[in-house]
Amino acid sequence: MNSRWDDREAAACANDLELRCYTSRLLGSDPTLVLHGGGNTSVKLTGKNLLGDDEDILYVKGSGWDLVTIEAAGFAPVRLAHLKRLAQLPALSDPQMVNELATQVTRASAPAPSVEAILHAILPWKWVDHTHADAVLTLTNARDGEARIREVYGDLVVVVPYVMPGFDLARVCASEYPRQAGADTVGMVLMNHGIFSFGATARESYERMIMLVNRAEDYLKRNGAWDLAWRAGAPAGAGVAPNLARLRKAIAGAAGFPVVMTRHTDARSLAFCRRDDVATVSQQGPATPDHSIRSKNLPLLGRDVAAYAAAYRAYFAAHEPQAKERKKMLDPAPRLVLDPEFGLCAVGRSAKDAAIVAEIYAHTIDVIARATALGGFRALPAQDLFDVEYWDLEQAKLAKGGKPPLFAGEVALVTGAASGIGRACVDALLARGAAVVGLDLDPAIATLHARPDFLGIVADVTSEEQVGDALRRTVDAFGGLDMLILNAGIFPGGARIDALPTEQWRRVMQVNLDANLVLMREGHPLLKEAPRGGRVVVIGSKNVPAPGPGAAAYSASKAALNQLARVAALEWGADGIRINSLHPNAVFDTGIWTDEVLVSRAKHYGMTVDQYRRNNVLRTEVGSRDVAELAAEMCGPLFAKTTGAQLPVDGGNERVI
Ligand code: ZN
Repeated sequence: MNSRWDDREAAACANDLELRCYTSRLLGSDPTLVLHGGGNTSVKLTGKNLLGDDEDILYVKGSGWDLVTIEAAGFAPVRLAHLKRLAQLPALSDPQMVNELATQVTRASAPAPSVEAILHAILPWKWVDHTHADAVLTLTNARDGEARIREVYGDLVVVVPYVMPGFDLARVCASEYPRQAGADTVGMVLMNHGIFSFGATARESYERMIMLVNRAEDYLKRNGAWDLAWRAGAPAGAGVAPNLARLRKAIAGAAGFPVVMTRHTDARSLAFCRRDDVATVSQQGPATPDHSIRSKNLPLLGRDVAAYAAAYRAYFAAHEPQAKERKKMLDPAPRLVLDPEFGLCAVGRSAKDAAIVAEIYAHTIDVIARATALGGFRALPAQDLFDVEYWDLEQAKLAKGGKPPLFAGEVALVTGAASGIGRACVDALLARGAAVVGLDLDPAIATLHARPDFLGIVADVTSEEQVGDALRRTVDAFGGLDMLILNAGIFPGGARIDALPTEQWRRVMQVNLDANLVLMREGHPLLKEAPRGGRVVVIGSKNVPAPGPGAAAYSASKAALNQLARVAALEWGADGIRINSLHPNAVFDTGIWTDEVLVSRAKHYGMTVDQYRRNNVLRTEVGSRDVAELAAEMCGPLFAKTTGAQLPVDGGNERVI
């Protein structure tokens, strides 16, 4: 690992706090040092307060900020003298500590100081950096970890045995640091947790971190425990999707809410799941408490979610029989599944959460595999793991999340998603918290949104093979299918029946009707595993109740699709799947309706363009967004008791009314 210090960038920092941001971001830019909000940094500064008195202030990373992107506002200024005195107390509960930290902050708008603030305060260095570096964790979590750390670092670091983060850890460090530190000391290793470096300047502290981590990496290289070769064989493909959807449903059932489940079959993940000793090495807990909260301590091996949840509840009951309040927060569902056929499956309330879990575990796999190569991976005793996972402060953090969005943890697939109504449906579903898969012939679909909860697939819905493949990719990406929006359709130029080419008729039927049969048939095994019940919304047409001359193929295809949806409502009710249809009319903000076409059609009817747009009972304009919002709501609780229904969204049409 190389230092990323750049003299020019550093020179652009106007003051120490900006420098603190700069080197914090350098640490944050390397995921082998810190992951997703992990790690923290501080700087001690002296300044005049409002009354003109000199005051020492600890600027420490605030909670909710990530080292990758931290700015000056992300550091909480805390009165240093008070923190140092707190460290002398014999005991301080978590709520007391949080209160003390909050009331000693000198800027009302500052974030809550890191729970490791007192630890930063007691270290007699201006600059303090803290990471959970993979290489250091590999050593601390290996057999004979402490001896190896001492062998690698000698007098360079103070070594602190594992203590849960918070006040107790700060106290232990406050007594260990003066006891062990010497003239050469530049850092501190916390067993099974991470590493600190210190310095008189920002650069010194940062580069000492790099130097210390490099020593651990070099040790691993010397001992043949650095380069890992992952050979896994091929992942299981055909027939896996419904089983994955079933597993996701079971996990959602244990959690009490829908979840996104992302499947990983890269060589590292798959080879780890297929290790002979996976049952031993994966069941010892996380590499550092920081990884425990979002990924849980232990992954589920195989598919027995009920047994996992029962063991969890039993453990909780045995250790905290009185804690009724905390029991309410208990969610005994796994966040990770290791299965030799599925590979690694990461679970989260959102696709983003699942991605974080997966990334954390990718690093955990490296740590476990390397420590095993050194002679054995050894995590914390079960009670320590449990304490961290049910830590008041962390639970409070999780509870703070607020009310989840309407479709949190749910998965939707939209056809014809690159433009018009389909694209608006994608937006409406994303806005409601769903993970969304968009299908379209247009290659633009692949890059429609760059975010973890969207997957764009270029596919021809008239190809059974491509539809099957798209559904498999949907399940691999998000774990299942809850909502299906059948929107893709074509409207060829008008032709009267006496001049309607057979080819055109067949093409319209293929796209508007046959493709939807295949999507429904192939989607059904997944929809019936939807935790809240599957939902299908069919984008029909005003032409179903009120056909027009010259549109025989289109009107007939949409009418047949309408009847198909009604039969599906009858057949799938027992599976908890609802299917409803929308009949839009005159939605002009789609690709078909260029300005030229609008002008010419308006002229044809002797209207202005504006009159033509509002040519309905309500004299209102109907846009893609209006249709999409209604389609999304039809998947929600408002329509929970409705199936087989047809709803116009056309501003009112005299022939329909
Ligand atoms: Zn830490």
